[in-house]
Amino acid sequence: MKNRELIVFRLGHRLPRDERITTHVCLVARAFGASSIYYSGQKDHSLEKSVRGVVDNWGGKFSIEHEKSPLKLLRGLKKDGFSIVHLTVYGMPIEEKRGILARLEKAVLIVGGEKVPPEIYELANYNIAVGSQPHSEVAALAIALDRIMEGKELEREFDSNFKGKIHLEPSEKEKKIKRKEG
Ligand code: SAM
Repeated sequence: MKNRELIVFRLGHRLPRDERITTHVCLVARAFGASSIYYSGQKDHSLEKSVRGVVDNWGGKFSIEHEKSPLKLLRGLKKDGFSIVHLTVYGMPIEEKRGILARLEKAVLIVGGEKVPPEIYELANYNIAVGSQPHSEVAALAIALDRIMEGKELEREFDSNFKGKIHLEPSEKEKKIKRKEG
């Protein structure tokens, strides 16, 4: 789907506890097809700096913004035609919603932190479980993006869109790192 727009929302970032996991949520979002991430909870300059550094080196158009009022932003995005997909262990199995997810043109994927407020469940068009066992926001997001993208995010052609200062050439045995001059 050419004009697809996928946004990720990470709720309730806590310092220092979530530093690594929220960074990984951002990296997965960017690598697997989202164009931006919002996060709520504590503002984290170091997180923003490291994500922007990855974008600067590895390319693509990906932004990160802190958001103080998640519900307000999400309601606005829903009004603008985004489907709200909340990833939660309590939701419906993702394999039962695969067809619907793959057809979404504009979607916000929400991953939680400590406690997700009930309003998020109500606002969501889809509450989706990636298996009905608790695991991680990183794993849930990766699999959900993979289902929405129908695996295209793992193809060589998708990677060629990033056009970064650094890119890797797939290799059976070597580390082939290419750097743009200048
Ligand atoms: N209670 C834990 C804590 O205090 O850190 C965090 C809960 S869980 C690890 C955080 C998020 O991971 C959830 O809000 C949800 O978005 C995602 N998650 C975990 N397991 C999931 C599953 N089976 N399906 C979908 N999402 C899941």
